[in-house]
Amino acid sequence: MGSGVLKRGELVVPGDKVAVIEEFEPKYGFYEDLGVVRASIVGYPIFDMDKRIVYIEKTLSKNSIPRPGDDVYCIAYEVSDKIAFAHIIKVIGRPKVFQPPFTGVIHISRLKKAKVNSIREIVKLGDHLYASIISRRNNVYHLTISGPEFGVILARCPYCGLLLEKKDQNLVCSKCNIVEQRKISKYYGNFKIV
Ligand SMILES: [Zn+2]
Repeated sequence: MGSGVLKRGELVVPGDKVAVIEEFEPKYGFYEDLGVVRASIVGYPIFDMDKRIVYIEKTLSKNSIPRPGDDVYCIAYEVSDKIAFAHIIKVIGRPKVFQPPFTGVIHISRLKKAKVNSIREIVKLGDHLYASIISRRNNVYHLTISGPEFGVILARCPYCGLLLEKKDQNLVCSKCNIVEQRKISKYYGNFKIV
């Protein structure tokens, strides 16, 4: 049995509501929150009208792999003092997301200007990042987040999970009244550029 009728929706950003659970079951890139189906990453939703599922449009094409010089949207999945690992979800300006994602690393030596002792001070697990590819070695992409456009573009409150809001050079949770430090991109919260 192949795919049924597919409908492509408008660009979604994390937290956007696309359906209720009675209409579509969330697959890759979506989750259920109190009966509502919301996006967890940036991308274009594909609604499978027969299977009643929704997922982010993905690319399996080897022709569209990221290259040094590309700016990418990624999500940190492991952060230690000296190195952070991120899943590269897509190249900025190209619609499709990589499934499975590529692996990117950020090394602390690339963050001299940030003057930090540990990457954990400026990037945390689950942060969404706008980064640039410096090089590719052994199938791993080396990334930088130096420069005003690069850095964290979405982070969640560690206590309640709400999206943090940018206030001056900090991120704050309006519910818990906490302040979090990050290397913030000037595009924080602006997913239309992704
Ligand atoms: Zn909170």
